[in-house]
Amino acid sequence: MKYIYKNNLPILFAIFFITGVAVYLLLFWRSSTFRPLAQGSSGWQHLREEETGRLNSVPVLLYHNIDGKGPFSVDLDALRGHFTLLRDSGIRVLSLSEFVERLGGGCSLEERAIAISFDDGFLSMHTKLLPLSREFGYPITLFVYTDNVYVRADKNITWKRLRELDAGGVTVEGHSLSHADLVRLNAQNTPESKKRLFDEIYLSKRILEKYLGKEIKYFAFPYGRYNIPLIRMCMNAGYERVFSTDYGSNVLTRDNYCLRRHHIKRKYSFEHIEKIVR
Ligand SMILES: [Zn+2]
Repeated sequence: MKYIYKNNLPILFAIFFITGVAVYLLLFWRSSTFRPLAQGSSGWQHLREEETGRLNSVPVLLYHNIDGKGPFSVDLDALRGHFTLLRDSGIRVLSLSEFVERLGGGCSLEERAIAISFDDGFLSMHTKLLPLSREFGYPITLFVYTDNVYVRADKNITWKRLRELDAGGVTVEGHSLSHADLVRLNAQNTPESKKRLFDEIYLSKRILEKYLGKEIKYFAFPYGRYNIPLIRMCMNAGYERVFSTDYGSNVLTRDNYCLRRHHIKRKYSFEHIEKIVR
């Protein structure tokens, strides 16, 4: 044994030297050369970045009223500020249809994008939102519940006003019949509750389609309350997609049926809004 070591000492030194150099290269040269690439443009980190990066996810904003009263109502100046922020940041506003078309497509957006929605159907949609959406050229979606729509009224939304909104770039979609808590209704499991659930999901769609003369493709759950049986009912009713109030952006690589929305509250600072949209 001793003999083998003595006679092959130069070879052993060579082996140690080569191994040392290899270890050095692996630990230091590799890390300094490849690590930045692995984080930015290659390796699994890149795949993760691609999946969750801003060019691959679309936040959908959710507003309610525009009178600055109550926690869910922004004032017109604040809303104008949000719209201006989107324009100045070069963020494209997609209609819900354009956004849904990109889902599951597997390719990133060329620029950051966002979608904007309003729920319920307040008069301010006609008096304030419609002129503002025209001014900025933003396509917007308004989810209305049909009990909230009047034939004739001064202080409420009417079918005539809804048709004007729909023709003017504020697309109208479904938000049930009476704005009931559908999860609670479904849990009752009585003949009456089943009939009511049918009216909330199916009948409301038909009423909107009849009065507006177009297909209603999307449904927003009242109070953002939903479960799997309700999602199935919406699929059977013919809605192409449903919208919740679950926070977070929608990743384009996943063709989800139930999509998330960022509920914008009046107390949110401008910085908070910037964080959501950028
Ligand atoms: Zn609502």
